[in-house]
Amino acid sequence: MLARMHSRKIVACTVIVAAFAVFAAAQNKPAAPSSVRLYILDCGTIGSMNPASYDLKAEEIKGSLDFITPCYLIVHPKGTLMWDVGQIPDASFPPGGGKATQGVFTSTKPLLPQLAALGYKPSDITFLAMSHYHGDHTANANEFAGSTWIVQEVERNAMFAEAAPKLAQTTNFSKLKGAKTIILHQEDRDVFGDGTVVIKYAPGHTPGHQALFLKFAKKGPVVLSGDLYHYPEERTLNRVPTFEADREQTRKSRTAIEAFLKQTGAQLWIQHDSAVQGTLPKAPQYIE
Ligand SMILES: [Zn+2]
Repeated sequence: MLARMHSRKIVACTVIVAAFAVFAAAQNKPAAPSSVRLYILDCGTIGSMNPASYDLKAEEIKGSLDFITPCYLIVHPKGTLMWDVGQIPDASFPPGGGKATQGVFTSTKPLLPQLAALGYKPSDITFLAMSHYHGDHTANANEFAGSTWIVQEVERNAMFAEAAPKLAQTTNFSKLKGAKTIILHQEDRDVFGDGTVVIKYAPGHTPGHQALFLKFAKKGPVVLSGDLYHYPEERTLNRVPTFEADREQTRKSRTAIEAFLKQTGAQLWIQHDSAVQGTLPKAPQYIE
């Protein structure tokens, strides 16, 4: 009888543990926040930069010549948005762990485990949008082919043209061809319909390049630059990279975004600028 009671207790205990595990898994995805949150994820660094490609001399650049490559998770009360998805696909990391390198790219952390640490899987991501198709912004795009992709028509056309566009790794975003897609016609897009997360059409770097406006309850308004600028000196010295799809269009987009910054009072955060990013909290901390 004692033995039976003991085994019953063990069974009961196991059931409780199993039930808790199921509950924990169901609770894994965090509850929706009451206002927009931004998580900045580490998708690596880019070295061996040539300032001349940005129409700058090395001595004109005050900060680091190297770029950082953040990825961003935006969590809105009504859903989630991934903005830029890295430079080295998770599948290209060494199987035993450790950093990955591809040419001038170095990344120490794959993207999906960083999302998982926050409680999110790719299937929890409502929308995918990328500033543009270059390889340092699109590495893990295929992982989000189950999300709704928001893209400018001109950008999408270039991505799937017979001749691959410059600086793109087309195999890394090939699955987006069949994804549910919101196609934009050279226009902005209010992602969740309340003006707090707005994709800004800012072409030139690529035909359908975009920036991202975020309106935080505490931090206030911010624009993530995409690659409208890379070095802050492009902005202060008025220099345009030599490898733009259309340099004149970049100048026009910069004028429009600068006017938008004035009008909204938004800060501009240059994505590749290590000086800006060095001042911002990294995931699991967030900006709100
Ligand atoms: Zn870039």
